[in-house]
Amino acid sequence: MGLRWFAIGGKQEKTFEFRCECCGELHRGSPSFAYEKPFAYFTVPENEVEARVEINSDLCSIDDEAFYIRAILEIPIEGVEEPFTWGVWVSQSEDSFDRYSATYDDDQSGDGSFGWLTVAMPGYDLSAPEEDFEQIPCDVSWSVPGQRPVVVPHETDHPIYHDFINGISWDRAIELARRMMHPDG
Ligand SMILES: [Zn+2]
Repeated sequence: MGLRWFAIGGKQEKTFEFRCECCGELHRGSPSFAYEKPFAYFTVPENEVEARVEINSDLCSIDDEAFYIRAILEIPIEGVEEPFTWGVWVSQSEDSFDRYSATYDDDQSGDGSFGWLTVAMPGYDLSAPEEDFEQIPCDVSWSVPGQRPVVVPHETDHPIYHDFINGISWDRAIELARRMMHPDG
């Protein structure tokens, strides 16, 4: 495993990279994975999607009664400058969703909302096979145009909160990235 060292703010921090056991390639940069749609989207039968769902890259409403916005969850990697990032969808109240949509093109920094994060990410999903994914409460800190809002999970005993606060090891980051890139590997 090659290490590159950078001096950032007086601190030595590495760029994340690893040689993948699955595909043999060198994967460089802190892992970043995004879900293109909220999980609830997939509970809608395909032939009903057009009538029931409104979705773009950042906003989704289902039946005009369930509302989601796309956000970023950042998990620090120990000793690495850039965090492990998850592009996730967070459910919103109708009021928050309307306010977020209405001000979407504006500077929304300083504003925010409450939401529920569906924990379906490999390595964090603790649900049994037939069970619904767990939801954890979070604040969503809105941002400037062109930047997605940032998820701040509320304190819970869920491992994702632990990792959000404490970060993950280099090896754990490799394990999570491998599971996302090579789900069958
Ligand atoms: Zn690979």
